[in-house]
Amino acid sequence: MRLTFFGATREVTGSSILIEAANRKILLDCGLFQGTKSSEERNYAPFSFRAADIDFVVICHAHLDHTGRLPKLAREGFRGKVFATAPTRELTQLVLEDSEKLMEEKAERENIPPLYELEDVARILELFEALAYEETIEISPGIKLTLKNAGHILGSAIAIVESEGVRVAYSSDLGNVPSLLLNPPAHVDNADYVICESTYGGRVHEDIKLRKLKLAEVINNTIAQNGILMIPSFAIERTQELLHDIEDFCSISGCERPTFYLDSPLAQKVTAVFGKYPEYLSETLRKNHKNKNFFGLERIHFANTVEESKQLEFAPNPKVIIAGSGMMNGGRILHHLLNFAGDGKNSILILGYQAQGTLGRKIFEGNREIKIYGKKIIVNAQIKSIGSYSAHADMPQLIDWLSYSKNVKTIFLTHGEVDQQLTLSSKIKSELGKQVVIPQMGESHDLY
Ligand SMILES: [Zn+2]
Repeated sequence: MRLTFFGATREVTGSSILIEAANRKILLDCGLFQGTKSSEERNYAPFSFRAADIDFVVICHAHLDHTGRLPKLAREGFRGKVFATAPTRELTQLVLEDSEKLMEEKAERENIPPLYELEDVARILELFEALAYEETIEISPGIKLTLKNAGHILGSAIAIVESEGVRVAYSSDLGNVPSLLLNPPAHVDNADYVICESTYGGRVHEDIKLRKLKLAEVINNTIAQNGILMIPSFAIERTQELLHDIEDFCSISGCERPTFYLDSPLAQKVTAVFGKYPEYLSETLRKNHKNKNFFGLERIHFANTVEESKQLEFAPNPKVIIAGSGMMNGGRILHHLLNFAGDGKNSILILGYQAQGTLGRKIFEGNREIKIYGKKIIVNAQIKSIGSYSAHADMPQLIDWLSYSKNVKTIFLTHGEVDQQLTLSSKIKSELGKQVVIPQMGESHDLY
């Protein structure tokens, strides 16, 4: 069996790994490079393989950095099968269609051709075949595939590929434990090789119990200042966790003020998919909410059209606006920042990973002078963050997950910036005594 790394090497985005075994080519994830302009340009570069030569793709979860180059793959001739869980297929459709729309807008603004069109999205979606957790199938003679719960977002999976006497486990992205919405990641105890993410390989998340207190503090501060709280939010998982926490906050405080707005049609559609697959949600959540009212949607005001979104400027304070994109590199959050970031009684609450090169990263790192749609703005709004909303495992959780793979020969680290990978690597060596490889782009390894 041969592994080649084609993305998320020494960086977080662009996940894509090629497995060659039993005369077949299998691609694990086919993600978009995101963040800086130069990393986005890499999406236009030709694949390092012929798309038509790929037999199978396994999509571990719907995030764009794991799915975003799928339509390009279809456009360039891929006609094989795509394996994923049923919710991953639905979420992938929403994510790819939304991304196509954003690309089209950007293409018009900056005069660059979109990476793909809606018909390419439709073509790839036809090739999906649903696989449940813990179900093993022989995708081709001599190649077995199993998906296990990764606890990262709805339907997210760890992929285990077994062929030529070698078993490889690919973590894709591993969830942060405990998650309010999902069961914890499944353990893998029989892999010969593990490919593991390392987004927070060098960090320890703050205690998840503090998160509701911190959220209450930020909301109460917004009420006290009669201000506006902007929450740039990832449409999948983060928004649903946030809605769930807001519901808890309101059930205690009564919540006559502030008014909550969800200004993201995508997040609204994603929330509906959560409701459709309760069997993928955690047992605790299902037990506590027998009426399936997980997200308190009757409290939330929705802005569907662009016009409704613009009207939020005139809605009375105090108000909370949840809008995409999560890293502030596009989406409706931008015009709210343009309108409100200059005012010191307003706040911006950052809940998740901000990739290098994104506006979110600049704001998170304290840069006060930013540019939106070519306009310069001085950020006077208060910048707050809550780390425990992360959908990724931190260092102790990654070490714990890896510790179940007792007989692993080598652990490959992907999906992390180099400093995080180096810290995790030395921790793995000292605590687990295992060999670690941090692959470069295009690096191949023969596994026996
Ligand atoms: Zn992810």
